Amino acid sequence: MIISGKDIAAQLRSDMQQQVDAMFAEYGRTPNLVVIQVGDDPASSIYVRNKMRAAEFCHIRSQYLHLSGEITEKELCAQIEQLNNDDDVDGILVQLPLPAHIDEERIICAIHAEKDVDGFHPDNAASLWLHQPLQTNHIASIYNPVPDYGCTIACTPKGILSLLASTGVELDGKRAVVVGRSPIVGKPMAKLLMDRQCTVTIAHSHTRDLPAVCREADILIAAVGKPKLITADCIKPGAIVIDVGINRLADGSLSGDVDFEACKDIASFISPVPGGVGPMTVTMLMQNTIDCYKRRQMKVN
Ligand code: NAD
Repeated sequence: MIISGKDIAAQLRSDMQQQVDAMFAEYGRTPNLVVIQVGDDPASSIYVRNKMRAAEFCHIRSQYLHLSGEITEKELCAQIEQLNNDDDVDGILVQLPLPAHIDEERIICAIHAEKDVDGFHPDNAASLWLHQPLQTNHIASIYNPVPDYGCTIACTPKGILSLLASTGVELDGKRAVVVGRSPIVGKPMAKLLMDRQCTVTIAHSHTRDLPAVCREADILIAAVGKPKLITADCIKPGAIVIDVGINRLADGSLSGDVDFEACKDIASFISPVPGGVGPMTVTMLMQNTIDCYKRRQMKVN
């Protein structure tokens, strides 16, 4: 069965519209997201446009700050600091990648953790790794895929847990394999699955016999960036397969990390590319903006 991230994202975004309208009725203010783009990378422009559109749909205010590719790291940090101190701003997102002369890690750290809607700030990453979720009796649903960690969780893995919840399959005790160990997808994904009582393996570029490792998986998450790396011999019959990869092919089309056609009849559930994880990532960005707003609002009241 195909897991349509596009349909689930649409459902979630309609729900968020109502959440935001209710928050406006209560507090007289809507969440406010500032999206910063440095330079004119065409792929970044598309991502930024999608995020702004999603915000508009969810009735979240958004501001687009398009800065010159020549801006210095110091100037960018100063801009971020101004937004950190602006009470009317709930979320700050700096679209990556940044030009080579700017240190991305330093910029991620410059955003106040409370306004870090991407969940990349070390305080947020550390909270995910060091803490157990606050609600131990959490029941996962597409609307509420992760328990409260008291911090912002990276959008892509959070969205994947929502896709997994949509299958209705119990995760407790399952074997999960996450292919890829990046700080924004693979690593947080592994921790979230571990907290859902899965037994987790992280595979990476040095893993030997990747197909054999993947075949152990009841839940297989591919986050590599290599088109069709995951072939039919990587799939255990009945596994749930989530494809995070976005790879632009020479003919201009998009491919995931999974050979979809070869794997779709072996898996019980599989997410496509496009229309799988991508729309969920943007949707979770909206949810994170709402959650940052709520946390800040609770501090004020
Ligand atoms: P990354 O480049 O930071 O990490 C890639 C990982 O893949 C590394 O940990 C590396 O060890 C592993 N790897 C490389 N070659 C491998 C191999 N042959 N076998 C096993 N593992 C291998 O990438 P990332 O930022 O995590 O992104 C991964 C992919 O997911 C990219 O295609 C990216 O565009 C996509 N992505 C999609 C979304 C979305 O919303 N759909 C979000 C983030 C990233």
